[in-house]
Amino acid sequence: MFSRKALLILIALALVLVALVGALALTRPAASPPIERFTTQREEMVADQIHARGVNDAQVLDAAMSVPRHEFVLPETIDEAYEDHPLPIGYGQTISQPYIVAVMTELAQIKRGDRVLEIGTGSGYQAAMLARLTDEVYSVEIIPELAARAEMTLKRLGYNVVVKNDDGYNGWQEHAPYDAILVTCAPDHVPPPLIAQLKEGGRLIIPVGPTGGYQTLWRIIKRGDKVISENIMGVLFVPLTRGK
Ligand code: SAH
Repeated sequence: MFSRKALLILIALALVLVALVGALALTRPAASPPIERFTTQREEMVADQIHARGVNDAQVLDAAMSVPRHEFVLPETIDEAYEDHPLPIGYGQTISQPYIVAVMTELAQIKRGDRVLEIGTGSGYQAAMLARLTDEVYSVEIIPELAARAEMTLKRLGYNVVVKNDDGYNGWQEHAPYDAILVTCAPDHVPPPLIAQLKEGGRLIIPVGPTGGYQTLWRIIKRGDKVISENIMGVLFVPLTRGK
């Protein structure tokens, strides 16, 4: 039998033990926030899909590493945000494949201070990449709901992008001329207003081709009254639609 004293000591020890376990449970770090999971996926996306395929511009790689792509996709596809393909964003439209966004951004050769126009805001992801590289980014989206949603997402994440709901075939005359124009939907010919709104030496990055068929991604550089056109590669974009 325990003496009364021994019993008291035992009870006291038990209490100390319970308190210790409780304190440990409280100080144990909380489960990693989701951002950690995405950081690893984003690193892999940049290394395996973008850098390994030949995009070498350090600023473009930095931008791809910093923009949280999972914030621009629909909640139901968040686990696929960093995969090597486009994803649906509603209204029959898609957020482009990460590699294509990076290639187009690299081709645009953006320096800080440049004024850049995007046609086809969609999710706002490409616009966010551009906003990492310069302070003046304008983007036109023809579907009002997508324009509104992208504007909210960009604002919430602190990207400095001016979004307008309109038909981007006509560019955005008010802020022209631009150092670079990126078109992320495919017309079947190069819209003349976009060439007109380029600065001398300005770059137009644009997929051109038939609706639903393969298109060619072009870089068109304005030189005086002429343009220099480079055929970059075959691509598949949603069509540029006309409406307004
Ligand atoms: N850059 C986008 C890709 C979106 S897909 C992103 O990063 O998510 C192309 C977008 O172009 C679609 O949202 C589509 O609605 C839009 N679009 C199609 N025709 C257009 C036009 N004439 N003017 C402006 N946007 C257009």
